[in-house]
Amino acid sequence: MAEADPGIGAGAAGDATRVTAVIVGAGMSGLLAGIRLKQDGIDDFVILERSDSVGGTWYDNQYPGASCDVPSHLYSYSFAPNPKWTRAFARQPEILAYFRDVADRFGLNPHIRFGTEVAGATFDEGAGEWAVAAADGRRWRARILIVGAGQLNRPWSPDIEGKESFRGVQFHSARWRHDVDLTGKRVASIGNGASAVQYIPEIAPQAEKLSIFQRSSNWIIPRPDEEITPKQHALFERLPIVRKLLRLMIYSINESRWGAFKKAGSWASRRLEKMARDHLNAQVADPKLRELLTPDYPIGCKRVLITDDYYPAVCRPNVEIVTDPIARITPDGIETASGRRVALDVIVWGTGFATAGFLVPIDLVGRGGRRLHDVWANGAEAYRGVTVSGFPNMFVLYGPNTNLGHNSIIFMSERQMDYVMPLVREILTRDLAVLDVKPEAQAAYNRDLQAKLASTVWAANCGSWYKHDGKITNNWSSSTITFWRQMRDVDLSAYERRPRQPSRVAA
Ligand code: NAP
Repeated sequence: MAEADPGIGAGAAGDATRVTAVIVGAGMSGLLAGIRLKQDGIDDFVILERSDSVGGTWYDNQYPGASCDVPSHLYSYSFAPNPKWTRAFARQPEILAYFRDVADRFGLNPHIRFGTEVAGATFDEGAGEWAVAAADGRRWRARILIVGAGQLNRPWSPDIEGKESFRGVQFHSARWRHDVDLTGKRVASIGNGASAVQYIPEIAPQAEKLSIFQRSSNWIIPRPDEEITPKQHALFERLPIVRKLLRLMIYSINESRWGAFKKAGSWASRRLEKMARDHLNAQVADPKLRELLTPDYPIGCKRVLITDDYYPAVCRPNVEIVTDPIARITPDGIETASGRRVALDVIVWGTGFATAGFLVPIDLVGRGGRRLHDVWANGAEAYRGVTVSGFPNMFVLYGPNTNLGHNSIIFMSERQMDYVMPLVREILTRDLAVLDVKPEAQAAYNRDLQAKLASTVWAANCGSWYKHDGKITNNWSSSTITFWRQMRDVDLSAYERRPRQPSRVAA
């Protein structure tokens, strides 16, 4: 019988650096994990980050107009407020600066190994350790593995015939070419999703002509953005209660929208749709254009976009929406299915990210040589979004079914770490070799989760990155308050626990 391939992380313990924990990624989740470990007195950990900065998606996405569609007083860690946000919806440079400041303030920088791409990790059951390997050959061994690699980190664009033949410049929105001056150029945006609606208003005034290739339209609601004045900064600093109340108010307004996602056609859904229709009607006068911009699926099925600038940009005389499907890309531009040729200098791929294969670039090998990629081949699933049966002592942050359509992901990540830390303590204080969620607990959890998701708006008939072959793998099934309650209850009975030394048997 052929021996199982031991995985990239496997290797002699001798050439590895031993640490208590390895965290993968220095984005929002990885930084949070590092802070929580430190607060718990665990200081010997490393954060392995493939790029040369903290910030994750806020470092990758530097396209013009990049900003967060969750107000900044909520899109920040609860324990690290920033009273000085300059706008209600901060722009990417300010958000990136925030994460850099947090990394600094909480003493994380000495733990971070920049330029370190994790190739794989293999669980060594005898030692109760994860053997982690970087692509450049460096190795670590750790009792705990925390994976904060994100869901939206692999830019993706479709393989369209002739793509490589294009003689102009082409790039993905998450790899923006700031060296390419778009002034006076004929530009195409393939895609009109969450990223595109942010860069289109910025580039439309520069381009001679901007053609937006739209496959489906999106529901868009207003973005109440405004400058936050120095007077308000002073108030937030002097009276933190005001800032806290503002955060609570933003959270509550977002949370009140959950009803619209829970069930298509519900009262809350109709109310949200009316808000979107009123926004469209107020900003677009031309009935033909309005029709092109009105989606044919229930609001919330794809991500609801939040912007005041997109419709005015689309109404500009130098901007057109092309709904005729793309047939091929030619050396000079794009040819549509009806034979129209659009001459172009630049193509921007606003086509999103490869999202179905969670953690795909990392070769994770668990008990008995089982690979996470194989286990998740038909759609990722985890227990409470963070633990995966057969992959002991490993915690995934922003993992399967933890994404939202209506509120802040930072809130969700903090709740995940509330759940992870007692389990980390259990492993270390009881000297466990294995803390592994029982397969039956994971199966029961996912049966219940999928039953709830089946009646949400995401199950409706629209294409979105929330689904993998029809199974909703990315989104949480309920309100964030329900998630909070679930994650406060740390149920050790759902876990198999095996000590490293049999004499110190865990209860
Ligand atoms: P996206 O929302 O998934 O949009 C991708 C776009 O590309 C869609 O318009 C899609 O059309 C189009 N597309 C895909 N394949 C195509 C093809 N073969 N031909 C033509 N068009 C094609 O991607 P994104 O804009 O990068 O955003 C991804 C996620 O990132 C968002 O959902 C959100 O969670 C996050 N994000 C957040 C913010 C924020 O402010 N917080 C900002 C940006 C991004 P269809 O709709 O027809 O599939």
